[in-house]
Amino acid sequence: MSKDCIFCKIAAGEIPSHKIYEDDYVLAFLDIHPCSTGHAVVIPKKHFESIEEIDSENLAFLNDGARRTAKKVYSVLKPDGMNIGLNDKPAAGQAVPHIHLHIIPRWKGDGGGSMHSIVRAEATEPAEEIIKKFV
Ligand code: AMP
Ligand code: ZN
Repeated sequence: MSKDCIFCKIAAGEIPSHKIYEDDYVLAFLDIHPCSTGHAVVIPKKHFESIEEIDSENLAFLNDGARRTAKKVYSVLKPDGMNIGLNDKPAAGQAVPHIHLHIIPRWKGDGGGSMHSIVRAEATEPAEEIIKKFV
């Protein structure tokens, strides 16, 4: 548990939340400022800040928690689709520094976009140059 972390406090039950799913490793609860009806966040109970920090076992638990939460939301609220995603680090919009997956239910005609609408910055280098850095 990280002192002063709001999601650690929610995981510990020190701050109330509207829980959708819980197991030994993860907790899913309704977002306090929902982007759509049923918007939920799924968190590991253990504190990790980002995808760089979390270990593969806890990430696997988080992913499976997201899968179970999504199934519950599909069965209860019957959305037409969902966006499921991670804002990793402040540059990507992460406000709470405890890794979490957003589950954002979507309905046909709701006016929202896809992942592609998050950012539209020109690539600074062609793919042929970028890939050289990975080899
Ligand atoms: P992010 O920008 O990815 O860090 O998202 C953090 C999310 O946590 C936001 O969508 C907030 O609305 C949500 N949030 C912050 N505090 C609470 C809280 N006490 N209960 C539920 N959701 C919260
Ligand atoms: Zn935390």
